[in-house]
Amino acid sequence: IPYKEGQGWGRGVLKAYGPIEMSPASSVLHYGQAIFEGFKAYKQKDGSIASFRPEANAQRLNKSAARLAMPELPEARFLEATRALITQDQAWVPGAVGESLYMRPLMIGTEPALGVHASSEYLFILMASPSGAYFSGGVKPVTVWISDDYVRAAPGGTGFAKCAGNYAASLVAQRQAKGEGCDQVVWLDAIHREYIEEMGGMNIFFVYQEKGETVVVTPELTGTLLPGITRDSLLQLARELGFRSEERKISVAEWKAAVAEGRMTEAFACGTAAVITPVGHVKSRQGEWLVNNGETGPVAAKLREALLNLQHGLAPDSHGWMKTIVG
Ligand code: PMP
Repeated sequence: IPYKEGQGWGRGVLKAYGPIEMSPASSVLHYGQAIFEGFKAYKQKDGSIASFRPEANAQRLNKSAARLAMPELPEARFLEATRALITQDQAWVPGAVGESLYMRPLMIGTEPALGVHASSEYLFILMASPSGAYFSGGVKPVTVWISDDYVRAAPGGTGFAKCAGNYAASLVAQRQAKGEGCDQVVWLDAIHREYIEEMGGMNIFFVYQEKGETVVVTPELTGTLLPGITRDSLLQLARELGFRSEERKISVAEWKAAVAEGRMTEAFACGTAAVITPVGHVKSRQGEWLVNNGETGPVAAKLREALLNLQHGLAPDSHGWMKTIVG
């Protein structure tokens, strides 16, 4: 869907996947006006196709757009594009639990101009790709590296937005984590370099045992971490499964001490791509430790099953999270 200042969003077209043409002076290539989203469509038990909370992705896209001085895309246009593409590509939606059609909305500034200013022209693109079960051999806990050389986002910056630049800035830390024998980076806050923010392309949760009660804790949204839609969904599902949930600051020192004292029994990350990924092993310059002896814990497993069942229509959708696309 093209956009021009003064004219607004134009007509969308459905095209076979392939290259697009734009000027080498396009503002996205120089000044980084690129935002994106990620969500999935799932085959339901009855053969219909539904996507999970696409309105939430449309709303987050618009928050990212506002931060990058880009135009808002009406939610109805976002959903219309989703419906058009999934309807066209329904043969590509795989059927097994854990499989899906991954949807990637992208908005870029396309005005050819070398001065630094917000583009006056944009393109909204929606593409899709079948996605297999993230963990084909069962869920495997990951090893994480707590990054203290790099920060992902600073207060007042773009941390809460899903913009391309955030990911460009994270690549070197991801490479460092790999070099340390880890699968993922854990990001700390920019000011104190002490509080845990998120992990790679996922939000993070911790499971505590407090006075006989299971408490699910995740870092609070401070403006420097991405408000994950999986994070929000799990906070609600956790309460329904009888766990208390909290959003608050958690320091690296607290993580290490709570595991050592047996108060923290699990840690896991969550996001659209991997659903839930347990954290089994933590490495940092301050030392390393295992969480739940490096195994997947029962709370992560229970939440993962609850979410997957909902997404595949195997459990009642009491929240109205599933949007039927092809009935
Ligand atoms: N944090 C970051 C940096 C991400 O890229 C993602 C993936 N979109 C998430 C968290 C998880 O968000 P969601 O649950 O909406 O996929």
